Amino acid sequence: MRLRNVKGSRETIAANEWVVKDLPACKGHWAERIFNNTNPIHIEIGMGKGQFIMELARLNPDINYIGIEKYSSVLVRALEKMEESTLTNIRFIRMEAENIQEVFAPGEIDQIYLNFSDPWPKDRHAKRRLTSKEFLSRYANIIKKESRIIFKTDNRPLFDFSLEQVEESGWNLINHTFDLHNSKYVEGNIMTEYETRFVKEGKPICRMVITQP
Ligand code: SAH
Repeated sequence: MRLRNVKGSRETIAANEWVVKDLPACKGHWAERIFNNTNPIHIEIGMGKGQFIMELARLNPDINYIGIEKYSSVLVRALEKMEESTLTNIRFIRMEAENIQEVFAPGEIDQIYLNFSDPWPKDRHAKRRLTSKEFLSRYANIIKKESRIIFKTDNRPLFDFSLEQVEESGWNLINHTFDLHNSKYVEGNIMTEYETRFVKEGKPICRMVITQP
């Protein structure tokens, strides 16, 4: 998702109280430095305009949420929605997810959501996919032992690739479906922006839940 030329988006982000800036100082200190409590921390990597993670934050005040997005022009859309909200259990980071280990300490994160991640269809870009072995090993360095990663996509080739990477990396596939909205797992499902669109178009949504070895 890329919205070009959103005027002043970098400046807006620099001045916004919900966007965490001094990231190296937060590593290992999110609980006391940012949230002022020891509630679990769940993150969404590639949150887009933030519909999903902001809905979760509303529903679960006892969980802290962090939305990560690499493009300022997209992140500002989430910040606009925050202007009308009173949520205290959510923050945002503008960053490239590759650097995630510089921001969170081992075991600091309790759950990771990946929703409709960029497919990077060319083989030579496989390492950039957010469910590649390379990314799985980065996640292993920031989550707790039993933490779950929950991945949704409409993109079947990306999903099949991800199933392979999970197996090759020795991660545990807790459950998966190739058609979330016609499965028992749909109960309690929170829709993302992309998901709403794809479901309207009648596309099946794939979902997997995994834990590290
Ligand atoms: N999760 C949202 C948006 C999906 S589009 C939804 O389901 O509606 C994927 C988003 O991930 C885009 O906004 C893109 O900019 C972001 N993204 C992709 N790769 C990323 C990366 N490596 N680091 C951070 N954000 C990334």
